[in-house]
Amino acid sequence: MKIKKDNEFDAIVIGSGTCGATIARELTRQNKTVLILERGGNTVLKESFMGLATIADQVFLGDDKLSTVRALTTGGSTSLYFGVVNYPQEETFRKVGIDLSQELDAVRKELPIAPVPDSLLGSQAIKLRESANALGHAWLKNDMLVDLSKCGAGYSYDAKWKARSYVDDAVAQGATLVNRATVLSIIIEDKVAVGVEYRVKKSMFGSEIKRAYGARIVVAAGELASPKLLRDSGVQGIGQRGFYCNPGYAIYGLVPGLNASSGFVGSMGCVYEDGIELGDANIPQSLHRPMMIGGMKLRHLMGFSDCIGIGVKVKDKLSGRLKEDGRFFKDFDKEDIAKLDKGKDAAIRILKQAGAGHIVDFGLTAAGRVGGLLSIGEHVDHKLETQFRNLHVCDGSVIPDDMRGTPTVTLVSMGRYLSRHLLKAL
Ligand SMILES: Cc1cc2nc3c(=O)[nH]c(=O)nc-3n(C[C@H](O)[C@H](O)[C@H](O)COP(=O)(O)OP(=O)(O)OC[C@H]3O[C@@H](n4cnc5c(N)ncnc54)[C@H](O)[C@@H]3O)c2cc1C
Repeated sequence: MKIKKDNEFDAIVIGSGTCGATIARELTRQNKTVLILERGGNTVLKESFMGLATIADQVFLGDDKLSTVRALTTGGSTSLYFGVVNYPQEETFRKVGIDLSQELDAVRKELPIAPVPDSLLGSQAIKLRESANALGHAWLKNDMLVDLSKCGAGYSYDAKWKARSYVDDAVAQGATLVNRATVLSIIIEDKVAVGVEYRVKKSMFGSEIKRAYGARIVVAAGELASPKLLRDSGVQGIGQRGFYCNPGYAIYGLVPGLNASSGFVGSMGCVYEDGIELGDANIPQSLHRPMMIGGMKLRHLMGFSDCIGIGVKVKDKLSGRLKEDGRFFKDFDKEDIAKLDKGKDAAIRILKQAGAGHIVDFGLTAAGRVGGLLSIGEHVDHKLETQFRNLHVCDGSVIPDDMRGTPTVTLVSMGRYLSRHLLKAL
């Protein structure tokens, strides 16, 4: 048996978000050696202004104010997500040769998934439901990735499932986690991926370039970072097919005497029309001030207890591109704009029905995830392997275009699916 050097592994996983964490955990469970390289740090997040400032990264998607947020830290974007569950459309995956049924069953059994009971909802969430129902909308509860036993009397950040817990499991089982390690490129030899080159931050100003080698390389750097990294490493045809970003608005008003308390964003909502969704956007108190300061909503800043919020999310078309310089450019056509206007009007009507005044929004943001830059069948095959042997991609960037819902359950299922294939080969 060949003795491995200390920079040689069965698998190198790039990024410790939902997919990266799942794969590292599954492979180490079967005694495989795994290196996890994570661009962000390892501090456990406190849901506070300073806590968020250290991990949140705003990425602009166009020439205007359109932007999205991701988290650069152990566990990736689940560190700041809401925990809303949408399930994978199994038929959509089957069409590209992937059967997720076995994995989805396992995920449903393992993750804490439940709707939030009324007893844990704030008065603003209840008010929003009453107003939406009064206007004829079926304002229904979503399943949430929340462990209700950790909720106490209401909202709890710690009750939300996070990919960090899977990273912890992987490390406990022997995985090597290196934080502040940004992968710069994949090392390809004779069309086979053999390793990665990465930069590790050593101090405020100092860093070191290193190499590590693996029998399998999994790119799980997230929907925005993975396409760039693959293109920089020579994978062909990335960046031209356009992308979607599920744009929308967060809209807030003030209802005197509401007596609001911290809420689970997204715990309820409705499909307003095909392609337009409305949802509860009542944020926890710890995020209220940073958000209102950031948006210069001074009247709302001190008014948490009167504040009520609703989110709009629209299904946009594939358009725009990943530019040569690595920046994104997105544009919307008339149909996308019409949906956004329609969704916004509907949201404002619900807030007015709730008796809200001083209604404000934060401009157009990417309300959901960005996707569509990579496609199964074009950039990766059904084993999520690229044109380079042993180089796989598993994260939001390869979710099929039709699947626009919240992705976490899908991503954990995909991580398990890829692990099953990798374990056959390792
Ligand atoms: C505000 C917000 C709310 C959300 N709400 C929900 C929700 O309610 N439900 C839901 O299901 N989803 C939600 N999401 C989306 C969900 O959190 C993400 O889509 C999901 O976590 C993406 O997982 P991922 O593995 O693709 O990537 P990520 O979680 O983004 O992980 C990628 C990791 O790779 C690291 N990385 C990036 N580049 C490199 C590199 N070059 N080298 C090494 N490491 C790198 C990053 O630091 C990051 O840790 C939300 C997201 C946000 C931002």
